[in-house]
Formats: sequence, structure tokens, C-alpha cells
Amino acid sequence: MNERLARLRRALESLEVKDDRATLAAYGRDESGAGEFLPALVVFPRTSSEVQAVMRACSTHDVPVTPVGARSGKSGGALPVRGGVSLSLERLDRILEVRPADLIATVQPGVILETFQKAVEEVGLFYPPDPNSAAVCTLGGNVAENAGGPRALKYGVTRDYVLGLEWVLPSGELLKVGRRTLKGVAGYDLVGLFVGSEGTLGVATEITLKLLPRPPAVMTALLAYPSVVEAADAVSQVLMGGGLPRCLELLDDVAIAAVSGRGIDFPSGCGACLIVEVDGPSEEFALAELDRVSRLAASRGAALGPGIVAMDRDQRERLWAIRRLVSESLRAIKGFKFSEDVVVPRSRMAEAIARFKGVGHDLGLLVATYGHAGDGNLHTNVLYGGEHERPLVDRALEAIMRITVDLGGTITGEHGVGLTKRQFLSIEQQKAVIDWQRRLKVFVDPQVILNPGKMFPED
Ligand SMILES: Cc1cc2nc3c(=O)[nH]c(=O)nc-3n(C[C@H](O)[C@H](O)[C@H](O)COP(=O)(O)OP(=O)(O)OC[C@H]3O[C@@H](n4cnc5c(N)ncnc54)[C@H](O)[C@@H]3O)c2cc1C
Repeated sequence: MNERLARLRRALESLEVKDDRATLAAYGRDESGAGEFLPALVVFPRTSSEVQAVMRACSTHDVPVTPVGARSGKSGGALPVRGGVSLSLERLDRILEVRPADLIATVQPGVILETFQKAVEEVGLFYPPDPNSAAVCTLGGNVAENAGGPRALKYGVTRDYVLGLEWVLPSGELLKVGRRTLKGVAGYDLVGLFVGSEGTLGVATEITLKLLPRPPAVMTALLAYPSVVEAADAVSQVLMGGGLPRCLELLDDVAIAAVSGRGIDFPSGCGACLIVEVDGPSEEFALAELDRVSRLAASRGAALGPGIVAMDRDQRERLWAIRRLVSESLRAIKGFKFSEDVVVPRSRMAEAIARFKGVGHDLGLLVATYGHAGDGNLHTNVLYGGEHERPLVDRALEAIMRITVDLGGTITGEHGVGLTKRQFLSIEQQKAVIDWQRRLKVFVDPQVILNPGKMFPED
């Protein structure tokens, strides 16, 4: 490997390459908590042709290469588990064009999501996918993970907005797939295949995205409940009653305790809450919609009082700040956590959360659940105090995955399989389906040099 790396390094000498200890350590970790896996080199291309050159060189010298965005991923997708090259897309960070007349934009993959959202909002447009990591994550990472977020309930996920891609294959060949129009059905849906491929089928170097007109009015409220049973039931009442808020986020008792006193006061007796957000063409419309959804959410008399309604942008921001604090506040309780993103049918949510808590109880671990309840996407977090508890944590995670599939759900709704869930894929998918996907991977990447060790269970 050392000899191959030395030759690779010579082949890449015209590019920005780093191999100092601090850089390697930084690129050896992400937000999954899966541990440290050091690359041998980190390469920072600035153009699509430089990305092609890196892929060609890695292919020629048979060195593994792992695409990297902002390393905010929670399934370990950007970790270079077999060493080799970390291919950072950070320097490809330009918004190439925004075309209001066509409601599309074209970007490079290293653009930070929040930067892009603000840029299109300035011209009256709207890009709905909104992972809570928007301030740091890249659009390339969003495409690779098919990221979702609170607004997915009404507006869908990243895949619903990707029209076209410039895509570099492991061989270095560059494909332009998809289109720049709203509709188009020519050929196989390669955009659909590449979005969500977790950096295992190629590298996005340009992304064409669909935009919407920006909804002029948005209103947000927090509704409190005695426990998650009532809160989960309220989600079903809203959806069955014909309500379609743009967000319906849940926090359970452990999550509420973790963020209590950090910006808002939860009503007394609050054992769970929902953050509800609606939008529409006018303030009056949004207020009426919020009122309708809140009534549906309280229809069985379970809500504790009228809730907290954000009266302006600042108050809305304070409610969402609480939601964004949940992840790090939960980690602070024990020092470590694994955050899952299972999805269950919405009618089974209360049962799922109760069974997840039961798993924690049986194993002596604290389990918290929060997340995008409107689409049944639950961030179930197993909190633990250190490596000595890992065997118990692993048992808890497997039990959570089995319960999820047993309830008719899926093991990941937005974080991807990556490294941390690869051993669970066979709980959900039949062997023939996994084998077929492996064949597809080998067809695209015969040397298996692109992001190896991800997605599929170890043989
Ligand atoms: C606090 C917090 C909140 C979060 N909330 C959400 C949420 O609400 N919804 C959600 O979906 N996720 C969420 N995430 C997870 C994460 O932010 C997303 O998965 C995000 O899309 C990852 O983007 P990234 O730029 O950090 O990618 P990275 O973590 O660097 O990489 C992720 C994967 O994408 C691949 N990749 C990166 N760039 C490219 C490219 N250009 N071409 C091909 N492959 C590429 C990598 O190989 C890797 O497999 C959250 C994370 C944190 C820390």
C-alpha cells in the first residue's frame, strides 16, 4: 500500500493534498460516533476535472477513495474505513446559477445548505429540504444521503428536488444525467439511483435543483402533552383530519428534560411535545391553518393547554433553536450516544416508542426518542457512558431495528446505512435484494475502490 500511495501522491502533485496529523485526524471522524478511521491523504479538488483526475489516479493505483462533504453524517458514510484517500468536495462551493423563470438552480456539491437556502430566499424562492444540520452540511452530502428534515412531511426530501447531476464514476468518466426541466422520462432514472447512493456509486460534481416560490407566511407553535402516547396519537388525528402542516416534530420526556431551561419553559406536566409549523399565501391563511391543525392535535382533549404560539420570526427561531439543541443536549447526559433514524408507519409510532424505551429499560440504558413524527421518522437515541457499555448498546440497537421492521418500518429514513447500519440491512431486505445491489455496485465500481466497507453487510 505504501508504494501505491507514494505513486498516487506523485500523480496528484498538481492538486491540493494534505497529510499532516491534524488534517488526517479531522477527516477520520464524523458525527456518527463510529470511531476514528484515518485516511492516508486528503485531497481538495477545485474543479470537476480535478475530481476526475483523483478518481483516475486512485483507480490506476488501486487505492480506496471516500468522498467527503462536511462530515456531519450520522451513519459513518464519510469515514475512510479502508484508509486511502479522503476526497473533500469542500472547495467546489459555488452556486453556479439560480434561474427564477425556470424555478431551478445549479450548484457545486460543496455549497453549504443554509447558504443556498438564504440565496434563493433572497430572490423569493424556496428550497424545502432542511436537515437540522443546514448550517454545516453540504448539498453534495444531502444528495448522497437523500437527506430529509422537518419540512419533508409537506414538501418531501432531497430526491424530490434533484433534477440533474454531473457525476464522476470511479473510473474517472464523467456523466451528465437527468435534466433541467420539471418533467422528463427519457431513459432509466439514473438521478433516482445516484441520489441516496451514499458515495458508493460516484461523486456529484454539479447538481441541478428544483425550486418553489417562497411561501409568504409561516407560523409555528409548540403543543404539550402528558406523554408520547398522546403526542403520537395527536399526529394521527392531524393527518386523519386532513391537516398537512409543513412540520410536525416530536420530543419525548427525556429530550424535553435535556433541553429544559435552555430557551423556553415547557408547561408543567409536559411529558412530550409537538412542534407544529404551517405555511401559506398570507398571515390570515397561516393563522387559520395553525388553528385548524392545533384543534385536530387537541381533538381528544389530551393537549396540555393551548400551547405556545410563536408570534414573530424571533419567537419561531427560539422554538426551532430548542429542537436543534436536542441532539447535543442528549449527548451531554451520558457523554456518548448513538442516534438512529428509523421510520415506522405513523399509526404504530406510540407502540414503537414504548417498545424502544422497554429495550432501554431491560438493558439498563437510557433511550430517548425525538424527530420528524409527521412522517413517522424517529430519532431514537441510545445514551451511554463509554466503551464498557458498547456491547449493551449494540444489543439495544439491534433490538430497535428488529422492532422497527416488525412494525412494518425501515431501518433508516434519512441518515443512510453507511457503516453503522450495514450489519442491520439484512434485517430489512431479503438476501436476493442485497445480492442484486452488490452486483450493481460491482458493475459501476469493478475494483471496489469507491467508499468500500459501506452499505452492505460484511461477508
Ligand atoms: C445536528 C445534526 C442534525 C442532523 N439532522 C439531519 C436531518 O434532520 N435530516 C437528515 O437527513 N440528516 C441530518 N443530519 C445528518 C447529516 O447532516 C446529513 O446526512 C447530511 O446530508 C450530510 O452532509 P455532509 O455534507 O456532512 O456529508 P458527509 O457526512 O461528509 O458525507 C455523507 C455521505 O455523503 C457522501 N458524499 C459527500 N459528498 C458527496 C458528493 N459530492 N458526491 C458523492 N457522495 C458524497 C460521503 O461519502 C458520505 O457517504 C444531521 C446531522 C447532525 C450532526
